[in-house]
Amino acid sequence: MAEDMKKKITIIGNGFASLFFVSYLLVLPVYPIFTFFLRRIFSRYEITLIGNGRFIYFPAIPEFIVGKKTKESITVNIRSWLWRRNVRFIDDQVVDIQDGGRTVLTTRGRYTNDALFIGIGPAFRTDDIPGTAEHTFSPCSGPDEMNAFMHRLNQLDEGVIYVGFKLNKLDGFVAGRGGQMYECACLLDYALKKRGVRDRFEIHFFSPNIEPGETGAITDRLQERGLILDYGYEPAEFVEGGMRDADGSLRRADLVLFTPGIKAPDWVRQSCLPVSRGGHIDVDKYGQVKGLENVFAAGDCSNHEDPPPWVPHQAHMAQLRSQAAAKNLRQVLNGQPPTHTYRFELSCILNMENDAMWLHAASDDKPPFWNIFPRRSRKLVTVKDQFERLYLFYLRHL
Ligand SMILES: Cc1cc2nc3c(=O)[nH]c(=O)nc-3n(C[C@H](O)[C@H](O)[C@H](O)COP(=O)(O)OP(=O)(O)OC[C@H]3O[C@@H](n4cnc5c(N)ncnc54)[C@H](O)[C@@H]3O)c2cc1C
Repeated sequence: MAEDMKKKITIIGNGFASLFFVSYLLVLPVYPIFTFFLRRIFSRYEITLIGNGRFIYFPAIPEFIVGKKTKESITVNIRSWLWRRNVRFIDDQVVDIQDGGRTVLTTRGRYTNDALFIGIGPAFRTDDIPGTAEHTFSPCSGPDEMNAFMHRLNQLDEGVIYVGFKLNKLDGFVAGRGGQMYECACLLDYALKKRGVRDRFEIHFFSPNIEPGETGAITDRLQERGLILDYGYEPAEFVEGGMRDADGSLRRADLVLFTPGIKAPDWVRQSCLPVSRGGHIDVDKYGQVKGLENVFAAGDCSNHEDPPPWVPHQAHMAQLRSQAAAKNLRQVLNGQPPTHTYRFELSCILNMENDAMWLHAASDDKPPFWNIFPRRSRKLVTVKDQFERLYLFYLRHL
């Protein structure tokens, strides 16, 4: 097909949402060498991806605590994966989107498109509780910050550690990271026991989004590990050496691992994109950005139309959403209306190293993987590890 007749598709971001989007858009998710040449000849699209070229496998970050994973082991240079798919890579950062989505501005350039996919991931509401940025660490800020947390932890021989989260529920679903923080708390207990110093530490678990007195399987796991449950607690401010409460009293903490609620990155608010009440890019059930033509978004930067209240932001949800968005984008480029919606599913393995649980909920009640895996077993730690290895192998080599 002549180059000038090809539809120009621009993709922003190289995280889970964008990479799943590329895989589903190109139908054949794995490209053996001969399809690589066919792609160059018969491709109907000219695809450009703008990002930093570094894919980070976030689900493995809590395992920094037990020393199983490092920044290097979970980071993939994504350029070859894109090159094998005939996707042009631009190493840059997007700063604005204009003309109803047709023009994307970066720090160094300007790119026009026939269709746009946005997978820029989350920003965190660090201004929600004052002092969050200055006095807390978060696994969600990436490997460098988790390494900084580990550095501080390794310097402590005793102390008080608070682990917690706050959710953004303004868009009717769970925009935050609860499961990940439970995992961090359990792994912290495991790592300190292994060091033989657990009895010299207090680990508190807090969240304003958990009712005091709440019971259930996760609470049981935290209690088995001797964690102090401060369910319902929200500090008025994080300060040097701990947290200040509304009545002015100070709670001492040597380290705080905390994740605020999620929204879309701030620059989106100055762009032509619509923003939801909770601060996400506003999309409909087909993944289309509302009010704009041929613009789609998926993953942690975007909200849902009519979500069930329990659905969280997850790589797994990003996959389901990007799959629908890719099919719908093909339809709209062919002049047809979009028809593909997606299921809502929470699915993740809570790794506690000496135990694990498969947390699961689905809008259609389908079990994960035809129920072939147990819901609670230490073997799930290996299963989680294998998923990661497979995905990273796919990104590095296929
Ligand atoms: C500690 C932790 C544990 C987790 N565990 C699990 C789990 O077990 N299972 C699960 O399903 N999910 C898990 N998640 C959630 C999962 O990682 C996210 O839901 C997922 O990363 C969302 O994908 P995304 O593509 O929307 O965002 P990201 O993966 O964050 O990707 C966003 C991309 O956009 C790029 N970008 C951002 N801004 C710009 C810009 N202006 N210009 C260009 N590029 C830009 C970034 O560089 C990045 O490449 C976990 C998350 C964390 C933090």
